[in-house]
Amino acid sequence: MDVNSSIGCRVTECQYHAGDSQHCTLDKIMVGKIESYSSKSEDTDCESFKPKEETAF
Ligand code: SF4
Repeated sequence: MDVNSSIGCRVTECQYHAGDSQHCTLDKIMVGKIESYSSKSEDTDCESFKPKEETAF
């Protein structure tokens, strides 16, 4: 997988994470809102995230 140096990411649980490098491997991602009005970073979310493994809770 190619590292996209334009998208930094620390979510190592995602199947698109670059591993040793703190980057995403996708060409582009979609960032969405958790709340209807975002006023802080915690209100935003990477909607391109996919878990490495499906985990049953
Ligand atoms: S898809 Fe989103 S969460 Fe996954 S590695 Fe890329 S930026 Fe991170």
